[in-house]
Parts: sequence; C-alpha cells; structure tokens
Amino acid sequence: MTTTITSHHFLSTCSVLGSVLDLEGGFKQDKRHHPVLQAACYLISELKLSQMMRSKNSNKHYFTKMGSRKKVHAFVRVRPTDDFAHEMIKYRDDNKTIDIHLKKDSRRGVVNNQQTDWSFKLDRVLHDASQDLVYETVAKDVVSQALNGFNGTIMCYGQTGAGKTYTMTGATENYKHRGILPRALQQVFKMIEERPTHAITVRVSYLEIYNESLFDLLSTLPYVGPSVTPMTIVENPQGVFIKGLSVHLTSQEEDAFSLLFEGETNRIIASHTMNKNSSRSHCIFTIYVEARSRTLSDEKYVTSKINLVDLAGSERLGKSRSEGRVLKEATYINKSLSFLEQAIIALGDQKRDHIPFRQCKLTHALKDSLGGNCNMVLVTNIYGEAAQLEETLSSLRFASRMKLVTTEPTVNEKYDAERMVKNLEKELALLKQELAIHDSLANRTLVNYDPMDEIQIAEINSQVRRYLEGTLEEIDIINLRQIQEVFNQFRVVLSQQEQEVESTLRRKYTLIDKNDYAAISAVQKAGLVDADGHLVGEPDGQGFGLGVAPFSTKPGKKSKSKKMFKEQLSSSARKEGASSPLSGKDLDVSTSKTQLTPSSKDGDVKDMVVRDRETSNTEPLASDSPKEELRPPRPSTPPAKPVAFEDFKNERGSEINRIFKENKSILNERRKRASETTQRINAIKREIDMTKEALNLQKSLREKQGEYENKGLMIIDEEEFLLILKLKDLKKQYRTEYQDLRDLRAEIQYCQHLVDQCRHRLLTEFDIWYNESFFVPEDLQMAVKPGGSIRPGMMPLSKIVSLGEDDQDRFSQLQQTTLPEGPDSVSFYNAKVKMEQKHN
Ligand code: ADP
Ligand code: MG
Repeated sequence: MTTTITSHHFLSTCSVLGSVLDLEGGFKQDKRHHPVLQAACYLISELKLSQMMRSKNSNKHYFTKMGSRKKVHAFVRVRPTDDFAHEMIKYRDDNKTIDIHLKKDSRRGVVNNQQTDWSFKLDRVLHDASQDLVYETVAKDVVSQALNGFNGTIMCYGQTGAGKTYTMTGATENYKHRGILPRALQQVFKMIEERPTHAITVRVSYLEIYNESLFDLLSTLPYVGPSVTPMTIVENPQGVFIKGLSVHLTSQEEDAFSLLFEGETNRIIASHTMNKNSSRSHCIFTIYVEARSRTLSDEKYVTSKINLVDLAGSERLGKSRSEGRVLKEATYINKSLSFLEQAIIALGDQKRDHIPFRQCKLTHALKDSLGGNCNMVLVTNIYGEAAQLEETLSSLRFASRMKLVTTEPTVNEKYDAERMVKNLEKELALLKQELAIHDSLANRTLVNYDPMDEIQIAEINSQVRRYLEGTLEEIDIINLRQIQEVFNQFRVVLSQQEQEVESTLRRKYTLIDKNDYAAISAVQKAGLVDADGHLVGEPDGQGFGLGVAPFSTKPGKKSKSKKMFKEQLSSSARKEGASSPLSGKDLDVSTSKTQLTPSSKDGDVKDMVVRDRETSNTEPLASDSPKEELRPPRPSTPPAKPVAFEDFKNERGSEINRIFKENKSILNERRKRASETTQRINAIKREIDMTKEALNLQKSLREKQGEYENKGLMIIDEEEFLLILKLKDLKKQYRTEYQDLRDLRAEIQYCQHLVDQCRHRLLTEFDIWYNESFFVPEDLQMAVKPGGSIRPGMMPLSKIVSLGEDDQDRFSQLQQTTLPEGPDSVSFYNAKVKMEQKHN
C-alpha cells in the first residue's frame, strides 16, 4: 500500500516539476529558483533512489504531450457560374479529384509539346456547396480543437472574384450566407456554454496587410485610439505577435460579431477613402482562446489562436500592363504570395530546416500559424469559367503544394504560477511525511530535511577539517543535502589552505614567475642563482631546506628511506619548531613545502623560490654556513601525519590499534544484528497485520452465516482457531524480538562509547609519539633511546613542544592553537605545566 501511495505522489510531483522545467520563456526564468520548487527537488532526489529500486519501469515520458504528424488539409471551392467550362473542368466521383483539360493552342502549330491535361487530387472538391457544408467540412474540427489548446489556421487562396471573401466572411447582410468567420465565433461561444467546468476567455484582433504595411482594422473603436507608432511584428519564445495591434476581450457572441462588422466596415471604408483595392490586401482575423479549469488545484491551462486568413487575389497582375499605384500593388501582392508559396514549398520539403518566413509581412505575421504545431486548412477558390483557366491551374498547383506540408499539432499548455506554488507546497508536505515514514521503517532517527543554517554548516566545516586532520575517522551520511554540503566544505577548506600556503610562502620567499625572464636575469645578475636556476654555491641542486627550489633536480635524488629521513629531521625540526606541530596551520605549511620540493623535470616547477635575503630573519644561506655543509642534506619537514600514523599503528600503537579495531568490529556486528532484528520485527508486524485481517474476515463470515453457540460457549471453525493460535504465536515472537532489539541497542551504545574512547587514545598517543619522534631535541632523544633515562611515551607534552624555548611562551601559544577543551581548561593546564616544570 505504501508503495502505491508513494509512486503516485512521486510521479505526480515529477509531472508538476517537469511542467515547471518545461515552461517557456520568462516564466521558467522567474520560477526556477522558487524556494518551494527547490525544496521539492531535494525531497524528490531523496525519494528517487528508493523509488527506482521499487519500480523498474520508471523511464516513461510523463512530461510531454506530442502530437503526431498530420497533413495540411486542402480543399477546392468552385464559384458557381452560368458559364461553367464543362469540357475543361471535370470532377471525379471520389469528390476529391479535379481534372483540367486545356485545348491545344492552335497558334503553336500542329506539333507542339504543350501539356494539355492535369489532374489534382485534394481533400475535397466543394462544388455547389452551401456555406453550411463548407463550414462543416473546412472549419468545424479546427475550431473545436482550438478549445483543447491546438492552434488553427484557415486560409482562402485564389484569384480576385473567385469567392475568398464570400467563403471567409460571407455576405454580411444575409445570415444564411454568413461565412466561416461568424460561424467560428458562434461555435466557440456555443462550446464555452457546453463546458461549465472551464473558465474560457475569448479575444479577437483583425489585421490587414496592404502594400507591406500593417493596419489595425479595429483601431477605430473609441477605446483603442489611433496608434502613434507603426505596428511591428515581434517574435518571442511564446510565438509571434503584432506589437500595436488591438486585441479585444469578448464575453459574448454579439460583442464578437460587432467587432467583426466593425472590421469589415473599415475594410470597405478604407477602400474608398484611401483608394485601396480591398482585393489587394491580406486580412487576418484572429480568435485567441484561453481555457482554465475551474478546479483550483489544476494549475495547467491551455491557450490557442485561430487565424482566419483572407488572402489578396492571386492573379498574375504583372502581365497586364499596369502602371503607377496598380503596378506597386501588383508587385507587393505577387511578392508576398510568392514568398508564401516559397515558405509552403520549404515546409513541404522534409530536408529543409530553414523556412524563409521573414521575407514579407504576410509570412512573418503567420510564422507560427503556418505548419509548425497548427491544424492547418487551405481553401482554394476557383472560378469555373474558361477565360480564367490559367489562374485556376495556378491556384490548383498551389493547393497541391500545400497538401505536401505536414504539421505536428500540439497542445499549448501553460501553468498558473500561483496555483502551482500552492500545489507544490501541498506536495512538499506530503513528501516530508513520506520521508518520515521511510526513515522510521529503515530504523533511522528523525532526519531533518530542511535547508541548513549557519551553525549546521559550520559544524560540517569542522567535521571536514577534523577528517582531513585525521582526528575524525569518517563522516556519517545523513541525507543528500548534508552530502552536498560536505563536498562544498571540502572545497572551502581546500581553497583556504591554498591561500594560506601561498601567503606563508609570500611571507618567507620572493616568488618569481618562471616565465618572467627579466626578473630571472636580475636575480642571476645579483648572483643569487646560476644559469640553471641553481643557487650559487649549491652542490647539486637539491635541498629545499637551504631555501631554494632549483629549476631542475637530478633524478634519483628524491627517494630516501623513511628511517633515514626521520633521522635527518631532528636538527632542522628544532629550528623550524616555532609553533606546535599539532596545529592545523603548521600542517598546512609543511604540506606546502612538500609540494614545492622539486621532484621532477624543469617544466613541473612553475615558480622559482628564492629566500629573500633582506627580509629573512632566519639563517644565512647554506653556502655561508660551513657547519651546515658538513652535514648530510636534510629535508626540512617531518613526514606527513597520515603516513606517520600508518607507521605508528604498526609499531608503538599496534596494541591499542588492535583493541580499537576489535571494538569496532564488535560494534559493526551488533549494528548489523540490530538491523536484521529490525527487519524481522517489521516482517512479523506485517504478518500480524495480515493475520488480523484474515481473522476479521473469518469473524465477519461467521457473523454473516449465523453464530453457533453451545452452552454459552462460542463455537468457531478450525480455520479461525488456527489463525488465533498463529496470531498469539506471532505476538510472542514480536515481543521476544523487540526485547532483543532493546538489549542490542543498549549494547551498541556501550560499544560506541568504547570505540570512541579507543579512537581518542590512539590519536593522543600518536600525537605524543609523533612529537617525540620528530620534534624532540637531540639531547632528549638520547635520553629516550633504550637505556636512556626517559621511557618513550612518558615525556611531558610541554617539554616536547617547548624545544628549548621559554616554556611559558610556548604554552600560551599552545593554548591558542591546540587546547581542545577551550578557554575553560586554561587554568587546569597552567597548573599542570607548573607542576611538570617543578618535577623536571
Ligand atoms: P474574392 O474575395 O475572392 O475576390 P468574393 O468573395 O468577393 O471574391 O466574391 C466575388 C463575388 O462572387 C461576390 O459577389 C460573391 O458574393 C460571389 N460569390 C463568390 N463565391 C460565391 C458562392 N460560392 N456562391 C455565391 N456567390 C459567390
Ligand atoms: Mg475578397
């Protein structure tokens, strides 16, 4: 049962999140960092792992709703005429094919290759079709799909007078002859009425494109007012829109009709006053639909637009000898229609990935309404007269090109940000509960999944530091957030250490860029280094302890046995021992030196390090010190603590290490047992539940069938009896196991304590050993040697770290860097030191 609930929540949350991530444009940008969303993401990641274990088939697509590819529908409507060219235009019985036969042009002679017969197969030939039938065939589906979120485009194409406007707008004075436009508006409002579960808004706009200029056919409305700046076509991630075009909210059919008539009137007026020829302009009436569920929890809503396009006459005006304005119009129309044709050809060609939409205003304005994700329909209007046959042919060719275009209608889903946040918050609360259940089932104590505060982050930082120092064996995994923070703190600590190393180096040395030849030659001139970058007087290029990192080091110089290394250390350690070897800071410095000690070819060492003579307040250079030259070269640093720790564990600390390991393995074994017992308890609990259920079933069956009593005693059948026995037995088992678990937990706590103690001892003893081995003056070392006056490990800490300096001075430094218990312990240690001094 738990699994089912969890899967459901998980998947629904995924789909919510998926939706957010799929959102387009501005919204995605704004909401991606929403705290609720981020919190949900965290919880999802926490749950994801366990979900993946449970449901293997989790790689289904939940987020996208892709439509399948669909061909553009192309229809032919023939304008009725008394003079119909029967011998030239023939329809086949399928109602789809139209055959054209052209008589041979006698002027071309008897033998010519002129083609005379064509056949065009379209989706339907509308001959003598009523406005009603045309609407049903052409537009009804497109409009009803628009309410489900699909964009739609219906275009009328054809020569002037062929019936485009009649098809699109119809006769405005006659209701029966109304065209696609008013009928579409009627259908939209009718569907809204039929869908009380949704709040649907309708807006309309009416655009005219004339000679490559944009006109708002609804700008005459009193509340719109004339636009100051010319309209422009703007593209954004949501699609294409016309900046400056008025869009009108219409709450009822009648309002929508008024707007349509207003636009139609403006079209006619413009043709008189501005001397425009209305058949030379393209008109686009757009209905914008937005449908939201009235259920508040549903944050999804769909939008769509229906473009109803009445194109300019397609006749080849250029052929007739037109002049002036007419010629200009002709050029524009021809251009825009041929650009439309080019775009259509490109859309129909699967290999083309660039569609030339921006060549003219018409295709640019229709960019997201041609092809793409729309339901698209073309009505080609033709004139059935013999004189128009050439134009008819050209229109039919356009129609068959259009038929090659495929689109992929897709629902335009959008998300209501406010509703979505509310839903996410609910989901978040559920997920938290879910995690709490998971944790308790997995026998984990209550884990907090909230973002971390500064104190928690500081604690992790300290854990990481202790881990790096070696005082913390492992960092327990709690949750994803904590793991991420641990890594983050690793980065923080690393970069701090890098900076510290660099600043320490800068304090001590002058760093010269190896590529800075001027600086190098200056140093060479000053006689500090020779041509190879070796320090003058340096015997073989080694010896960082002498203060120089040379350009090159001879191979084979580096490897030295650890023992020898340790022996060589004591003297230099004495000089370096300005601060406690226990402190992290000191560790950093030693690491940095190790890094700088040249170990390979020239190219590996980037900076040349020269000890600054002026600022150096330490020793003179090696060449100036004959005493130093007599000694074998020594490394200036003790071995790294982790390396030394391994040695320690094998040598002096072997016994305590063995006990530590033993305790740890006992602890692990107990933990494993506790987890197994928990699992058993859970299993018994499940079985108890199941048995109880079965028993209840038996009981209700018995009650239904009528109970049988004998001398006041209830008689039950064997099955029920066995179930009761089983339940009793299970309960007993449960109690026993539970008691075991309690005992185990107590044992685990005790063992944990032991392990902690051992770890502490191991580390303390290691520190003492480390200091004795690498930081103890020679005289003291002699004393520590077998037969000496002091036993190893018994040397007081203060003595070890004082290294001949003023004890009190050293100790106050130690207080700042190493005393683990903080300021409260100062007086305690002060007293101890005094006592030890007295003894010594
Ligand atoms: P276009 O817009 O293509 O230039 P119109 O729609 O203005 O053509 O049509 C020209 C004339 O033909 C108009 O008077 C119109 O009423 C008439 N007409 C066109 N198609 C039909 C039709 N199918 N039935 C009746 N009349 C039509
Ligand atoms: Mg017209």
